[in-house]
Amino acid sequence: MIVFENVRLLHFSPGSVSGPTDIAVEGSKIVAVGPSLAAAYPKAERRSPGGYVSPGLVCSHNHFYSALARGLMVNVAPSKDFAQQLAHLWWRLDRALDEGITRASGYAGAAEAVRWGVTSVVDHHASPEFIDGSLDVLSEGFEAVGLRGILCYEATDRNGMDGARAGVAENLRWAKAVDAKRAAGKDVLVEAAIGAHAPFTVGDDTLKALAEAVRASKRGLHIHVAEDKFDAVHSRHEHGKDICRRLDDAGLLDAKTILGHGLYLSPEEIELVNERDAFLAHNAQSNMNNNVGYNHQLPLYKNAVLGTDGIGSDMLASACFAFFKHHDAGGSLWMDAFLSMLQNGNRLLERYFPGKRFGRIEAGYEADLAFWDYEPPTPLLDGNVAGHAAFGMNSAMVKSTMVAGKCVIEDRKATFDYAAAMAKGREQTLRLWKRMEERK
Ligand SMILES: [Zn+2]
Repeated sequence: MIVFENVRLLHFSPGSVSGPTDIAVEGSKIVAVGPSLAAAYPKAERRSPGGYVSPGLVCSHNHFYSALARGLMVNVAPSKDFAQQLAHLWWRLDRALDEGITRASGYAGAAEAVRWGVTSVVDHHASPEFIDGSLDVLSEGFEAVGLRGILCYEATDRNGMDGARAGVAENLRWAKAVDAKRAAGKDVLVEAAIGAHAPFTVGDDTLKALAEAVRASKRGLHIHVAEDKFDAVHSRHEHGKDICRRLDDAGLLDAKTILGHGLYLSPEEIELVNERDAFLAHNAQSNMNNNVGYNHQLPLYKNAVLGTDGIGSDMLASACFAFFKHHDAGGSLWMDAFLSMLQNGNRLLERYFPGKRFGRIEAGYEADLAFWDYEPPTPLLDGNVAGHAAFGMNSAMVKSTMVAGKCVIEDRKATFDYAAAMAKGREQTLRLWKRMEERK
């Protein structure tokens, strides 16, 4: 057991700040919060980190396969629209991934995430030339770092039907492996979803196979929808119905479904998504980077969550981008609304990790925590947490991160080999560049 003494609890949503208090952690859980816990648990290890402690942050949509895309030095043809961007850049990148590059991406992505106080990452993986076993390899990085996650493989028809079947099979294989681990009495840090790329690359046969995988695994579908207008138009042209109606008709829209982007969903679709209690993952930086437009309908979603879509895992930055872009687009939501979306990631976790609770510093919750070294120049109070988050705090202020009761970053030092993860990344990146040049 560890007792953290004299720390201030900082909840981003609803915003609250406590006076100095103690937190007792045993195993993977918070067992008590209150004064004088060191006296109550005299055998516990005592730590006095100072500063503020918040629940760990959740990234609800990411692609660690992009972790090595930073500073890409490959000839990429100019793109006139999103479809060309996919063909010229992103689909060349994922086809270039092999086992070694996938492993290095997962490790580097996980290592960086925990530095920013992120304790869970929901990943959406694609490596069409290395499908079978790819989620095992990706999970190695999560396990080595100690990062919580939900993994899936982006099944798609775009590389042929054998590839599509292999993608669905990889999802199911991984979900069964997680179930077997749990059945053997082991604690599960990395869960499974059933992944698909996007409706415009998933035909009805693959959709049916995905629905069967969802039913068999009792997981939810994780898919991009209407990231660009093309996806919405394609669905009506090719299938005669809106994207979400098509997913719902296939039995793929429920309380575990994670829809990435959704910029061009109709009001009827949003109503359906809310009725089914599904999640919409908003990725502000990515939408701006890909110039796909702004999701003006964001305030209409019941369960909006935040992701990065592969642009790192700095979730405080992601919430800030979402807030500033919203204001720039003429929206009237305040930063607290975006912190609430960030907080919603914990509800998503609770639906995938049965029996566990996330997102509060209270007895009974998982000990997924971020320790902040923040000395505010103005009072930090219950009513102004959002203002501090938007205009003062940043993720470099995270000095320690705990996941499931284990310190993974302690006083800015990783408890795993951070330098080795990054060195491996740089080494594999040179191979990635070469393989991308070979795949035009
Ligand atoms: Zn994505």
